[in-house]
Amino acid sequence: PKYVYDFTEGNKDLKDLLGGKGANLAEMTNLGLPVPPGFTITTEACRAYLTEGGLPEGLDEEVEAHLEALEQGMGKRLGAAADPLLVSVRSGAKFSMPGMMETVLNIGLNDESVQGLAKQAGDDRFAWDSYRRLIQMFGKTVLGLEGDLFETAIDDLKRGKGVVSDLDLDAADFQRLVDTYKGIVREHTGGDFPSDPREQMRQAVRAVFDSWNAPRAIIYRRQERIPEDLGTAVNIVAMVFGNLGMESGTGVAFTRDPGSGQQGVYGDYLQNAQGEDVVAGIRNTVPLQRLEEIDPASYRRLLEIMKTLEDHYRDLCDIEFTIERGKLWMLQTRVGKRTAAAAFRIATQLVDQGLIDMDEAVRRVSGAQLAQLMFPRFDGGAEKKTITKGMNASPGAAVGKAVFSSERAAELAGKGEDVILVRRETTPDDLAGMIAARGVLTSRGGKTSHAAVVARGMGKTCVCGAEELDVDARAGRFTAPGGVTVQEGDVISIDGSTGEVFLGEVPVVDSPVVEYFEGVGGAADELVQAVDRVMRHADERRRMAVRANADNPEDAARARRFGAEGIGLCRTEHMFLGDRRRLVEDLILAESDEDRRAALGALEPLQKSDFVGILAAMDGLPVTVRLIDPPLHEFLPDLTALSVKIAVAGDEADPRDRKLLAAVKRLHEQNPMLGLRGVRLGLVIPGLFTMQVRAIAEAAAERRAAGGDPRAEIMIPLVSAVQELEGVRDEAEKILAETGVEALIGTMIEVPRAALTAGQIAEAARFFSFGTNDLTQMTWGFSRDDVEAAFFSRYLDLGIFGVSPFETIDRSGVGRLMRIAVEEGRATRPDIKLGICGEHGGDPESVHFCHEIGLDYVSCSPFRVPVARLEAGRAAL
Ligand code: ADP
Ligand code: MG
Ligand code: MG
Repeated sequence: PKYVYDFTEGNKDLKDLLGGKGANLAEMTNLGLPVPPGFTITTEACRAYLTEGGLPEGLDEEVEAHLEALEQGMGKRLGAAADPLLVSVRSGAKFSMPGMMETVLNIGLNDESVQGLAKQAGDDRFAWDSYRRLIQMFGKTVLGLEGDLFETAIDDLKRGKGVVSDLDLDAADFQRLVDTYKGIVREHTGGDFPSDPREQMRQAVRAVFDSWNAPRAIIYRRQERIPEDLGTAVNIVAMVFGNLGMESGTGVAFTRDPGSGQQGVYGDYLQNAQGEDVVAGIRNTVPLQRLEEIDPASYRRLLEIMKTLEDHYRDLCDIEFTIERGKLWMLQTRVGKRTAAAAFRIATQLVDQGLIDMDEAVRRVSGAQLAQLMFPRFDGGAEKKTITKGMNASPGAAVGKAVFSSERAAELAGKGEDVILVRRETTPDDLAGMIAARGVLTSRGGKTSHAAVVARGMGKTCVCGAEELDVDARAGRFTAPGGVTVQEGDVISIDGSTGEVFLGEVPVVDSPVVEYFEGVGGAADELVQAVDRVMRHADERRRMAVRANADNPEDAARARRFGAEGIGLCRTEHMFLGDRRRLVEDLILAESDEDRRAALGALEPLQKSDFVGILAAMDGLPVTVRLIDPPLHEFLPDLTALSVKIAVAGDEADPRDRKLLAAVKRLHEQNPMLGLRGVRLGLVIPGLFTMQVRAIAEAAAERRAAGGDPRAEIMIPLVSAVQELEGVRDEAEKILAETGVEALIGTMIEVPRAALTAGQIAEAARFFSFGTNDLTQMTWGFSRDDVEAAFFSRYLDLGIFGVSPFETIDRSGVGRLMRIAVEEGRATRPDIKLGICGEHGGDPESVHFCHEIGLDYVSCSPFRVPVARLEAGRAAL
């Protein structure tokens, strides 16, 4: 295969092969934009290297040929003594992984070529600065040395000279630093820093390949659900220099505000700087607007290019650029990450600009983003003690205990505590802590800093660059103006939408998007209008209906306001709790048919009134009522508590308690989940299901008499064999006939055997609803309540699954059972209605799966209904 592509050979659609960075560098090259020449080693080469443990055959020769062509074009040889060509060796995977992987700049410098570079540039300081940067980056990235070793050396040098900024170091200082750095390399690796330019490049390429499997890259991929086996491409790019004096510099820019979507000039610029200096927070950057004064020609050219890129990509782009003595160079672009609010705004703005259509707008937002917009915000009216204000880097309202290290964040979050990770600035090593925290607060760095970029990508609340804070991570505290000191464990609140930081816990309120769904305002809000347009279009496109899981009139009504088209799961068990518990106990304790009938007779009117309210709230829409599902002992007192009560009472003990105790012991099950529950209860306790069916039928009759349009459906849980269903169905039909009410009778598909015999079960069921919580438990053979804490994180580490099967449907296992049931159920009964009512019904990925296998509807919790609507629309595009 061809392993190396010149920038003139690639294009933006080759991301699989060239990675995002390489594909877009090629695209910009072909657009005629000023990109330094270079070439890309493919991800295929990386995959081969990682699986075979060595460079694939022919790669060396191909790289050499491209390097020679590059040298020819530039009229310079890599690392030549008199006038060296320098290159960067840059990672670049298909999906951007900000700061996760490695890049080495200034490859080609050694003790001779540094002199040549100095002479050519007429700047000794620049040349020695570049050289020490090479050793530093190479040492860290390729040789695996601690970055601190080098940081400490430069800090010591500055301290010795009594200066604080790198800008105060001169050529001689950097030359001395090069010696120190070489010494560090020798001391810690036992070998010398390689002076052969081609050898430097070869080693850097391998290091970039290896960085694919660095622990932080693995964590990041898991979090972002990026496949493990993609590999990274490597870009070799001729160096241009932002550190050639004050007419040079480097910057980052967005074509729109990634926080709000507003068009304008957004970015940061740093004079006399190279590479990561901008985002590392080493020196304070200036807002990009300032470039207009610093270098008006480059500024104008940059704005032109930004416009070209936005029109070309038809989307927000982010950009990395460098100015070398007044000449602008583009070093990277990509379709940029953005906040959820910006995603909706930008999508509709682009429609209005005529750049995309509504289908594309719906594609460009996601259910996860919509869910974020539905998060609560801080209560504007609440009393707050503001500590300081930083930059609003990633929106949301986060409250938690301040912690000062990634480890501590992960540790406390693991115990279920809400934490805010507070750092001076974050590095890729903080990733685990950022994932664990509710929010991230930094005292340095702008909206393009590591913390900001990563937090936005994760949808995590972030305030960055709160410069008034003095963060002392080692001491575990920060101080703020006004004598405020926050110690580890103190609660703070951060507002990622405004940048405000508050002491203590601030109460939160609904988002305007939720208020809009609720019909109580928000309609004037520009964001709400964008959401509304997108939702309308998604609704128009989707094939699946969306229902809600709700078991009281309030939830049903709310779900309806959120756009639910019925109830897919109305649980009846909660209706047996509270003060009705005693009636259920009576049922369980009944010793004669008469007692049992009396107990059921007392329950029935209560059940009926529950159903009347729900049917009224969902008038005209289907309401699927599931007959009682959990094992009976859930309604009885706790064994230990009751035993103690009886023991304490001694001879005075209530005889009813003694009977209860006997019942508790009798009903005790080793494994209640697989015990006497669902349809099994209905078959074993005469009259239980019929009481429920009668309550449903009579509720429907009453609603109809009142002029309503009740559409009850009766759902039998935990069926594994058609015979279980037949008996229940026959009795239910008799009752419906008596009451003159029509209702579909169907079943949950939640036991693997039911899925496997769906063809038979469909004979007795008018509808199936996949209960994917139980189906997942029973298919994997583990109970959710027991395993998540016990070993899920280990399973995730081992890659046995990439995401919990309780969160997203396990397509190949559970999903396969669903496909079988859909196919065989429809074969038996072509008009069978098919839905899902497990937790998965509101999970975007799972909604797409349900669409693919041809379900008629998904049902989810009321709050997830808009998310499901949007994703069902996206699935249908
Ligand atoms: P990342 O993927 O972490 O952004 P990059 O490969 O983009 O890493 O490199 C980081 C920075 O290094 C770039 O933003 C750019 O400023 C600088 N850089 C990379 N290649 C070159 C080059 N050929 N000339 C000048 N600067 C470069
Ligand atoms: Mg970059
Ligand atoms: Mg179930």
